[in-house]
Amino acid sequence: MDKLYTFGKYLKHKYNKKIKKVPISIPGFTCPNIDGTVARGGCVFCENESFSPNFQKEKFTLNLKSKENPLLQKQLNALKLQFFNTVELYKRIYASEKFIVYFQSFTNTYAPFETLKTLYDTALTFPDVIGLSIGTRTDSITDETLNYLKELSKDYEIWVEYGIQSSNDETLKRINRGHDFQNVKDTIKKTKDLGLNVCGHLIFGLPGETQDDMIKSVNDTIELNIDSIKFHPLYVTDNTLLAIDYKKGTFIPISEKDYIDTLIKAIKMLPQNVSIQRMTAGTANLLAPEWCRDKSKQMSHIHKALVNAGIKL
Ligand code: SF4
Repeated sequence: MDKLYTFGKYLKHKYNKKIKKVPISIPGFTCPNIDGTVARGGCVFCENESFSPNFQKEKFTLNLKSKENPLLQKQLNALKLQFFNTVELYKRIYASEKFIVYFQSFTNTYAPFETLKTLYDTALTFPDVIGLSIGTRTDSITDETLNYLKELSKDYEIWVEYGIQSSNDETLKRINRGHDFQNVKDTIKKTKDLGLNVCGHLIFGLPGETQDDMIKSVNDTIELNIDSIKFHPLYVTDNTLLAIDYKKGTFIPISEKDYIDTLIKAIKMLPQNVSIQRMTAGTANLLAPEWCRDKSKQMSHIHKALVNAGIKL
């Protein structure tokens, strides 16, 4: 890629409207590596109910085999409330015109099909919604759900976002991911064969990884024919397994210099049609590294590095 192709540019070109993704967190959703199905505790960097005493958790959580869903009304209320509050803000701040409902937190296909269908159908009835983006894991999406998303994609902008993180199986074990890269390959192939849009998420700075490992993950991810990508530095927040390693000194976070260097190499490798949805991440609720606290500063450093590398913005 020699000209930065962001997801914003993709949407602008396709719809010629100001479009924003509206993040939604549905109560009662969890992950199979939290609830004991494939592991417990979740990914080592994830702040979830396993380690966070203040985490707002439901006593009841869903999985693919749940026979009933006593939380459905609560979930629908949360969806509606979060959507309308965020949209009001986005219209005021960004003058946004259309919206994609982004099911972001936890594994948003890890529930019985009827629940998912109700949530997705409801989101698509909201005003000015042009589609859905569904964040999930490659081991937690059924053929029934994929086929339904394929049906929806005839009329709406539908994206499936898969956490890939790394293509190195040793790393995936180390971070307690609960699936291997073969599972990622198989599910993304199935999703792409149905004609659905796929966004892959990668993390740079995972425990034990060299830059060669990170670049290999980028290469392996490109080979999956993804349509879009998110890059993320690994930072440490409290109440995670990673925080324990960080405090013991057995995990050292990636430096900003190494992160940006890897990111620029990765962007250069991308085919021109793969849009970029995220180049970094920051949080105020941070233990380390300090450079991840201020996202706007990071973005300005990244833009400078892109220009120096000859990538047009
Ligand atoms: S899959 Fe996502 S939400 Fe689930 S434990 Fe890992 S990081 Fe957390």
